[in-house]
Amino acid sequence: MVTRFPPEPNGYLHIGHAKSICLNFGVAKEHGGVAHLRFDDTNPLTEDIEFVRSIQDDIRWLGFDWGDHLYFASDYFERLYGYATELVRKGLAYVDSQDEAEIREARGTVTEPGRDSPNRDRSVDENLDLLERMRLGDFPDGAHVLRAKIDMGSPNMIMRDPILYRILRAHHYRQGDAWCIYPLYDFAHCLEDSIEGITHSFCTLEFENNREIYDWLLDNLDVPRPQPRQYEFARLNLEYTLLSKRRLLWDDPRMPTVAGMRRRGVPPGAVRVFCDMIGVAKANSRVDIGKLEYAIRDDLNQTARRVMAVLHPLKLVITNYPRGQIEQLEAPYFPHDVGKEGARTLPFSGELLIERADFAEVPPKGFYRLSPGVEVRLRYGYVVKCTNVVKDDEGEVVEVHCSYDPDTQGGNTPDGRKIRGTLHWVSAAESLPAEVRIYDRLFRVPDPDEVSEGETFLANLNPDSLQLLSESRVEPSLADAAPGTSFQFERQGYFVTDSDATDGRLVFNRTVTLRDSWARSHTPDTTDADAKRVSRETRSDSATAVLQDHRPSDAALAAVFDRLVGANVPETDAGVLTRAPEALALFAAALEAHDNARLVATWVVNEVPRAAEGVALSALPFSGADLGGLLGLIAEGVVSSRSAREVLAVMGERGGDPAAIVTELGLTQLDDVAALITLVEGVLQAFPDKVAAYQEGKKGLIGFFVGQAVRESDGKGDPKVVKDLLHERLD
Ligand code: ATP
Ligand code: MG
Repeated sequence: MVTRFPPEPNGYLHIGHAKSICLNFGVAKEHGGVAHLRFDDTNPLTEDIEFVRSIQDDIRWLGFDWGDHLYFASDYFERLYGYATELVRKGLAYVDSQDEAEIREARGTVTEPGRDSPNRDRSVDENLDLLERMRLGDFPDGAHVLRAKIDMGSPNMIMRDPILYRILRAHHYRQGDAWCIYPLYDFAHCLEDSIEGITHSFCTLEFENNREIYDWLLDNLDVPRPQPRQYEFARLNLEYTLLSKRRLLWDDPRMPTVAGMRRRGVPPGAVRVFCDMIGVAKANSRVDIGKLEYAIRDDLNQTARRVMAVLHPLKLVITNYPRGQIEQLEAPYFPHDVGKEGARTLPFSGELLIERADFAEVPPKGFYRLSPGVEVRLRYGYVVKCTNVVKDDEGEVVEVHCSYDPDTQGGNTPDGRKIRGTLHWVSAAESLPAEVRIYDRLFRVPDPDEVSEGETFLANLNPDSLQLLSESRVEPSLADAAPGTSFQFERQGYFVTDSDATDGRLVFNRTVTLRDSWARSHTPDTTDADAKRVSRETRSDSATAVLQDHRPSDAALAAVFDRLVGANVPETDAGVLTRAPEALALFAAALEAHDNARLVATWVVNEVPRAAEGVALSALPFSGADLGGLLGLIAEGVVSSRSAREVLAVMGERGGDPAAIVTELGLTQLDDVAALITLVEGVLQAFPDKVAAYQEGKKGLIGFFVGQAVRESDGKGDPKVVKDLLHERLD
């Protein structure tokens, strides 16, 4: 097997080309064959040596190697010309002297056949003479063309005497002025393939109709057999971007060019995984950009060191920390990964910087970060409690004052008191200034070409695709990070050092967020709550789609589906699991630790996605075994399902052992019956009307009382026990 990747050196490679590269190089490798890199440089008007260089860099960066097989179509000009004369000699090509408009007009339409050119029956000798003089430069540009003599009535328009050569006085970047006639794609491409002994010539679907001319030329010329064959596949279209070399002329990190992605910090392995993931198909479609982002997160999750950076700093002063003291805290680079080594020290002092958004003077509901009177954990440091704030003249908080608990180094509370949030931070004096570039999708809509009358794709540009942050501070260990090094800034996303970082200046590009926050934050004109509801609705939409057809058509998956249903998993859940490989893997791992398949499935399908908030399941900070452990705690009655959901949310945020989190959050189920009786009494006293209604026969109110009592217990009361107590008391 011999394949080739045949770029025209007229622009930067983009992710669509990456798909073609992965296909050509991947298939050849898989079959023990070779892949050629051939510059298809037959059009002197658009090509440039700069692109020859950048394309090679890009392919190497993607991890592919053409070895000795680097070719240039322009090196074949003499041989191609020889094939052209062979066609003329065989009476299969002629020189046409009509001008461009006449030729176009005589071609006919899809419904009407074309008309023969008045020059179609020129003699072989006349044609040979004219062709030679075309080459020698005897005629002005456009005076003649060479055409194949096939069939002006062919239903395939391409076969209506296609043009093979045109006269064009243009300087070729490699051939100089040696030629003033240039071959056209349809003539040149199949012959280039044949000259190189290509066996499989892959191209995109729009060339399906060109296959006939590809084969016709090779069939009619004296070329080596077996001749190459053309195979078409769907071109890649990606949401929120455009893939056309003509529109992608620079290496901005927002561009889906290979150069742009590299600068953005996208690892080459992620591009390869993405190309595998989308596969090779015969149907054109627009691929969800979330898939690419997923592959990027998944790759960086394995490799990027975790460090701390504060993007929008707010000063935090620890009033009871010894003045001038600096502690060097040991912090691992891969806190979730026991297998990966490496650590650095973090200077901790009495003056720190935290993220502005991590403090709220009046905390909204569910805000587990810092606010007056509330305790939070500083990652790797201590537990601090906000005692006071300092405001400027406009009333904006400019400093947060805290006291710290010296017994909580590393974040544990000796008395087991519950600390909800963990914040990242840097030391004010020891941290380093950095410029941070927050990149976002380049277009606001999935299909940028969808515009109203009179507008172009430019109307769909996302005005917030780049945000420059100049106040950011990073931990000192980043001082000499080499350009192109990827990091996870804890709680913020993946970032890479930019090539603009010189002379000790630090510049970081955001590669991708930690979670897919796009859908929520960009739902227009809705509140956050609305957006959440919308995303829930979309989720249930896809659940409905699954409902209609649970059992996968793929035989192997269908067998898994049947096994799941046999193990008492509801069909809907089995359908979801068999369609999502990561979910199935998580399910299998959790089942090892807890054997109630039905319960495990429900949690993987319904609860885990909620806790994951868009993070890839394989990138979650907890394992299937952890999830199984949590379900075991429910089964043993240690926690209620409701509390377990809370535990899962914490696990989704920072991983960890479920039993430890249960203790940490103080969620151990209340089995102290005396305490529960007090609770139940309290509820009954608070709702005398409802008690009366119940005793008059509205027995359905029992659910209401149970709910109230469980809520009063912070979810710790076992609903079954509560219900029994209520019945005892009311009936
Ligand atoms: P141009 O618009 O200049 O023709 P192009 O994007 O088609 O640019 P080429 O250099 O002609 O680029 O393409 C090189 C190879 O990459 C071709 O084999 C082509 O089929 C493939 N290719 C180009 N775009 C895509 C895409 N979006 N998806 C998959 N393959 C692609
Ligand atoms: Mg092309």
